[in-house]
Amino acid sequence: MSTETASSSAAVAVSALTEEEMTLTVKWSGKEYTVRVCGDDTVAELKRRICEVTNVLPKRQKLLYPKVGSKFADDSLLLSQIPLKASVKMTMMGTVEDDIIVDPVESPEVIDDFELGQDEAVDIKDKEVNKQKLRRRIEQFKIEVRNPCRQGKKLLVLDIDYTLFDHRSTAENPLQLMRPYLHEFLSAVYAEYDIMIWSATSMKWVELKMGELGVLNNSNYKITALLDHMAMITVQSDTRGVFDCKPLGLIWAKFPEFYSAKNTIMFDDLRRNFVMNPQNGLTIKPFRKAHANRSTDQELVKLTQYLLAIAELDDISILDHKHWESYHEDSVKRRRHA
Ligand SMILES: [Mg+2]
Repeated sequence: MSTETASSSAAVAVSALTEEEMTLTVKWSGKEYTVRVCGDDTVAELKRRICEVTNVLPKRQKLLYPKVGSKFADDSLLLSQIPLKASVKMTMMGTVEDDIIVDPVESPEVIDDFELGQDEAVDIKDKEVNKQKLRRRIEQFKIEVRNPCRQGKKLLVLDIDYTLFDHRSTAENPLQLMRPYLHEFLSAVYAEYDIMIWSATSMKWVELKMGELGVLNNSNYKITALLDHMAMITVQSDTRGVFDCKPLGLIWAKFPEFYSAKNTIMFDDLRRNFVMNPQNGLTIKPFRKAHANRSTDQELVKLTQYLLAIAELDDISILDHKHWESYHEDSVKRRRHA
């Protein structure tokens, strides 16, 4: 009997700690800020919340808290594993990113991509804790619309690093690191798709980079919105640990009259970014070593054909985008045989 009581009270304590939100006070640069987190959040998530109020990028933050040692150095640690109290203030040390100089080498490390097992991927998407994280992100994140959504268009969401741009190589002019045919690609698909750009870096970097490449003021196409790392959520997988992903559900919740799982496709070189919406992701071949590959990379030309070919479907989530390269040929064959 006593065992039962003990275990049930432990369960209550755990669930209170993981599901309930807690307000933490963070001291930085002579001021105090408050952030709302829950025990299910990781240290990475906490730093993202702090970034939201201070503009200090997560990678620039050093968090100090009594009796926790170096726990805040591990971004994957769950906050429920750290003895935090609402009454104890945290101190953050860190500097806001310079407005002009953003060193590409400092953008997020590329972690090898991985493919989750089918069961596990389904699990992550359907887990209540992850749905809850998505709901909170929908409440917290505001998408700034740069150009109006267009009725009847599908939605294309694009990653930047290694998808549109080789951020690891150096060049005198950033245009030399741009994936070949980028403007031609965007101009062509704009006929059928609204375009959003979603990068795991900061908004400052997204605006700077896209501005430099001439994507934000092109007369042949318009960008509907830009999203950054603040729009991402952190999920946990049994075999791969904790990682960040880009939940399209955020966009669908913000623009329900325009975009849905049926008409959205996202290009990213990292498959794990699609884990909350695997049917909507297309893993693009990474564009690396721009100087060597600039003259031969044809991915955006081929993908233009694919996007325009599937644009006639009412529901593009029924496709397996893994096989995108053979889609065009198949449909041509089918038409010939019809
Ligand atoms: Mg990328």
